[in-house]
Amino acid sequence: MHFHLITLFPESFDSYLGASIIGRAIEDRKIRVSFYNPRDFSKDKWHRVDQRPYSGGPGMVLEAESILKAVQKAVGKKNPKKTLIIFFSPGGTQFNTGQAQLFSKKYSDIVFICGRYEGVDARVVQILKAKEVSVGPYVLTGGELPAMIVMDSVSRQIPGILGKSESLEENRVSSHKVYTRPEVLTWKGKKYKVPKVLLSGNHAEIDRWKEKH
Ligand code: SAH
Repeated sequence: MHFHLITLFPESFDSYLGASIIGRAIEDRKIRVSFYNPRDFSKDKWHRVDQRPYSGGPGMVLEAESILKAVQKAVGKKNPKKTLIIFFSPGGTQFNTGQAQLFSKKYSDIVFICGRYEGVDARVVQILKAKEVSVGPYVLTGGELPAMIVMDSVSRQIPGILGKSESLEENRVSSHKVYTRPEVLTWKGKKYKVPKVLLSGNHAEIDRWKEKH
């Protein structure tokens, strides 16, 4: 899987992509990440890509052409059937695990367009027929965090990234409540025990408990 990030702030991805499971997946070449900064495609002498919105209002809007050129560079001569273009927007369809599974199976390349400020000229979505995706019912300052969320969620669906396929929570009985040592935790004079059923070794009962929690 090759992820292509259209972003004004490529450096904001550094620490996340360098760490833990995702860092290792990049090192092992199971996923690839490339950056395209719209500023590099701007016609402006100062590489400006933000402009005032028509009809007025606060905030600046990212111009269409620099973003379209950056996407063109990312897409190149790739097979359009295996390439997905995502535009991040709080007004898009809510992202979920089902989509992560689908994207990981269906596509070899995913392009993420990360908006900033007041957003991106709406003609970008129109021209590229991009899929508008939201990561939740709140407004963020940019599409970079949403891109990290979707990349992370799609990556863990790719065979070999989490290790065994049973590592995927979706493929087994798992609980949102997990415990580790010690069996009895003492904190400020009070004792907190691990639920007995988890120590019982009775797998049918453990699965029943996990399904409940
Ligand atoms: N005025 C815009 C929001 C701009 S927020 C509007 O009302 O739609 C700046 C950028 O952050 C957006 O262009 C988008 O790329 C990203 N963004 C903010 N919140 C998001 C969310 N919940 N999901 C996905 N992208 C989001």
